[in-house]
Amino acid sequence: MSATALTQLASALLSGSVKVIDLTAPLGPETPVIKLPPEIAVNTPEVKVHNISHYDKNGPFWAWNWLELGEHTGTHFDAPVHWITGKDYQDGTTDRIPAQNFVAPVNVIDCSAESAANPDYLLTPEAIKAWEAKHGEIEAGSWVLMRTDWYKRNGSAETFLNADANGPHSPGPTPEAIEYILSKGVVGWGTETIGTDAGAAGGMNPPFPAHNLMHKANKYGLASLCHLDQLPPKGAVLIAAPLKFVNGTGSPIRALALVAG
Ligand code: MN
Repeated sequence: MSATALTQLASALLSGSVKVIDLTAPLGPETPVIKLPPEIAVNTPEVKVHNISHYDKNGPFWAWNWLELGEHTGTHFDAPVHWITGKDYQDGTTDRIPAQNFVAPVNVIDCSAESAANPDYLLTPEAIKAWEAKHGEIEAGSWVLMRTDWYKRNGSAETFLNADANGPHSPGPTPEAIEYILSKGVVGWGTETIGTDAGAAGGMNPPFPAHNLMHKANKYGLASLCHLDQLPPKGAVLIAAPLKFVNGTGSPIRALALVAG
């Protein structure tokens, strides 16, 4: 980027002709957490906020809390080492991912109508190619985000997880869709649902393809994004940086997008 382009961006931020959109869900005790079958997995705890002091005898002039939360809670980042297929990447932990990868352009594929009609909707390579024919190719180094408007269900675990006796019902990608975006050289894949995979992804081949295939390729995931309906199909810039947890497998983030105002 030239100094001129950066100066123009700075001016645009000050004038409001570039706006910042918050893509993050509120993070607190009400944040829904994923519920894996207890017979196969230990679950992540719900968020707890422990008070240290509140301008009182424990700290007369200040308030502060300490937090109890999982790495994969709320709007969050999946690092490659989160999955067994990505476990050996030296730069695959939250503290070692190159910072350059935390700021990148985004492609937003609108699947909101399909997901409203069918909560088990799966995005296919054919649908992605049809999107590219209309909006332009997915470029190397960019993110692909699946807009479903599912974030409107976030806040209630029941509607967000949408589970019945057959398991959770929420939209996501097919394995082939993930293979296709990897062939384009994307930096990551993001969704508005509790994880980066569809509710039914445990039964796919491979199971949980967004996790299995993206992290196998040293790429990233974003889950529980909000407000993707406020982004254009192309042209926004995403800022999504995990906390620099040592050897971290993921982290809650404040996901932000820069858009033309
Ligand atoms: Mn995760």
